[in-house]
Amino acid sequence: MSPNSVPNRRSFLARSAAIMAVPAVATLAGGALAAPASADTLPDYAPIPPSALGPAVNAQGYFAGRVEKNLYWVTDSAYQAAFLTTRDGVVLFDAPPSIGHNLQRAIDQIAAENGVPNKVTHLVYSHHHADHIGGSSLFGTDVVRIGQVQAKQLLASENDPARPVPDVTFETKYTLNVGGERVNLAWHGTNHTPDNSYIHFPGHDTLMLVDIFLPRWVPFDSFNLNEDVPGSIAAPDTAMAYPWKHFIGGHMGRLGTRADMAVYQQYVNDIIDGVKKALGTVDPTPFFAKYGNNVWAASQQYLAAVVAYASGPVIKKYLGVLAAADVYTASTTFAILESIRLDLGFGSQVHP
Ligand SMILES: [Zn+2]
Repeated sequence: MSPNSVPNRRSFLARSAAIMAVPAVATLAGGALAAPASADTLPDYAPIPPSALGPAVNAQGYFAGRVEKNLYWVTDSAYQAAFLTTRDGVVLFDAPPSIGHNLQRAIDQIAAENGVPNKVTHLVYSHHHADHIGGSSLFGTDVVRIGQVQAKQLLASENDPARPVPDVTFETKYTLNVGGERVNLAWHGTNHTPDNSYIHFPGHDTLMLVDIFLPRWVPFDSFNLNEDVPGSIAAPDTAMAYPWKHFIGGHMGRLGTRADMAVYQQYVNDIIDGVKKALGTVDPTPFFAKYGNNVWAASQQYLAAVVAYASGPVIKKYLGVLAAADVYTASTTFAILESIRLDLGFGSQVHP
């Protein structure tokens, strides 16, 4: 996803190339694919609440600001990274490729303003996903990379030169001490990915946890594509057990507060309640009567009806509260529905 990126010549050309590639693909697939998108035919959605938007980005396409004391964050309005300036160098947390070279520009800007070193000496990985650390190789080989042990295993198997494996790994806990600063890294079980880590800044009243809770926005498609749905539902409780005032979620243009996280937890609980109610209310009989031996058609239509029943009131409640509630609540409801059926066994019946 790369919303609101300023169109430049390169991205325009890339987009044109992608669109021009469509006819060839369509021919291969049998020619029945859709025509290139047009603003006239694309659906409309509710406006984004102003509260969900962050500070404007500068001419280079980024915003860098203070979180607290010498902890800073940088965003391109879609992705976020953070950095800590110290007397011995900079500790960077994630390197999203969408921010790319603007990471060092942001660090140079802040370091110059404060008269501190601008050299990145440590790079902490929140998790192995390319959209959050695909800019890692920009920082060369003379930097200590730190990540959870499963990040190292996953990155070793993915073998992507843009994402060097961490030099330092930990299983459940690691305390990083650099230039008189302390950062606590922790792994509390699998959630969005098996390696997703909690990054706590005890001296800065801040927690960073990526791809779980995106302040003032609903999750990305299908519940943030979370690999472990129950683990991801539980993660905000673990996050709330830490002391913090500021939250860095890795996405969109603003930081979060504890109140924001409470709203998000209520949103997820409302979806869970809606799904349980829908599973007990929507009658599957007509779907199976209609489709006979086409069990997939019956399943698809029945589950779509369950999703519509469960998500409808949630969308209505959160429009204007959480950005894009009308875009992704249904797909997140489907992901949670499947987890409630398959992981929790809710509504499962044994043949008499
Ligand atoms: Zn991710």
